[in-house]
Amino acid sequence: MSDLIRKTAAELAGLLASGEVSSVEVTKAHLDRSAAVDKAVHSYLYQNPESALASAAEVDRARAAGEKLGPLAGVPIAVKDNLTTTDAPTTSGSKILEGWIPPYDATVVAKLRAAGLPILGKTNLDEFAMGSSTEFSAYGPSRNPWDLERIPGGSGGGSSSVVSSFQAPLAIGSDTGGSIRFPAAVTGTVGTKPTYGAVSRYGLIALASSLDQVGPVARNVLDTAMLQDVIAGHDPFDSTSLPESLGSMTEAAKKLDIKGMRIGVIKQLSGEGFQAGVTARFNESLNLLANAGADIVEVSCPSFEYAIAAYYLILPAEASSNLAKFDSVRYGMRVEPNENATIERVMAATREAGFGPEVKRRIILGTYALSSGSYDKYYGAALKVRTLIQRDFDAAFAKADVLVSPTGPTTAFKFGDKIDDPLAMYLNDIATIPANLAGIPGMSLPNGLAVEDGLPVGIQLLAPAREDARLYQVGAWLEQAHENIWGKRMIDFAPELEVG
Ligand code: GLN
Repeated sequence: MSDLIRKTAAELAGLLASGEVSSVEVTKAHLDRSAAVDKAVHSYLYQNPESALASAAEVDRARAAGEKLGPLAGVPIAVKDNLTTTDAPTTSGSKILEGWIPPYDATVVAKLRAAGLPILGKTNLDEFAMGSSTEFSAYGPSRNPWDLERIPGGSGGGSSSVVSSFQAPLAIGSDTGGSIRFPAAVTGTVGTKPTYGAVSRYGLIALASSLDQVGPVARNVLDTAMLQDVIAGHDPFDSTSLPESLGSMTEAAKKLDIKGMRIGVIKQLSGEGFQAGVTARFNESLNLLANAGADIVEVSCPSFEYAIAAYYLILPAEASSNLAKFDSVRYGMRVEPNENATIERVMAATREAGFGPEVKRRIILGTYALSSGSYDKYYGAALKVRTLIQRDFDAAFAKADVLVSPTGPTTAFKFGDKIDDPLAMYLNDIATIPANLAGIPGMSLPNGLAVEDGLPVGIQLLAPAREDARLYQVGAWLEQAHENIWGKRMIDFAPELEVG
């Protein structure tokens, strides 16, 4: 395995800045790694070697010419396939968009290009980002590099597996109910869902617009922070984009100080329903924090009991409306029935063939929840619960600067374990969904391996809206404390994965 692919993005940036390596070399090393392992891992739906190498060569030229470059210039990245790219198909994991090449770049993609990050390709996801395992991708699942028989989390399992199998140092994900954080937890990587509105959603194929947020994925906290700094910022093309800057996450990740920090343990997100090894590692980290002078307090969020029910009404409601535009007229697939091809029949046949089972399930659920007889009973009630959850967070943040919980109830499960049981799949989101309902930032970072199965466990940090910097400050401290104990990074315990 080439040395370059094991380096962090910050290390690569240093080598690039000092001229020790070129971006073309770094980009090639990652493309070679993909050639060796992606048949087995299947992180990518599409790879773009020519375009990535051309961007890399352009950064190398600019650097040689003495032009001023951003801190991550020349460091390659992979992008989740629900963000539009003009030089690569964008499918959102669905057959209905197969082969569609968007006419514009997502703002995040445009920012990556402007900052000189070569885009290696587009990563796999559950169809329209609905799922927790990538098993709902219309193009087949991605695999977890720690154990190829297990899920890499979802929906962003392509982005989590691409960084954990060393095919890219950085990736972009999207998080509507945990799709950045849960995949990070089960692959031993770091992922952040920024404050709602901190990163532009322009060019993100919408799942549920009031919950969706684009965010960074990497193998350590500093890299994640540097990437958030590249992609964050106001965007006039996104009406929910925050006007103000949230400050430097990179600086926050360098503080390494948690003395006096009040850490709130969410009572409702522990104990029953959580795998023993997940809980054990969680408690160990609480001890680490306490011993270093943080103040551990318990907080109660009683409305979290209804979070999954509320989310699985609000999300399908919004999704049923967002997905109405896939009608065979404007984008992608078009299926014409042999006879009586009226516009309604063409639309119906196209949607029947183009959408998979989970997408159909949610469209039906959402359409029902919004129908006139049910609107108040279901959608209206869910919105009330959403407000109660926001109030729970307000009360908790009056007592604590940062809240913590395990990221997911279990380590990576096996393919097939939950696919036929939608409720079991949904329950998986218990710890991640509340942050989306409240619009607050959340991060998952490696928290050791579970004793019973040797698989990665994640710890989730949550902060009040706009206080993303706290996640990076506490996260970087905890990561350092862990590495001092383990003697190496958690990702370095992962199997080598030298497969053909
Ligand atoms: N598991 C969640 C769901 O299926 C995750 C969605 C997401 O964050 N994109 O809705």
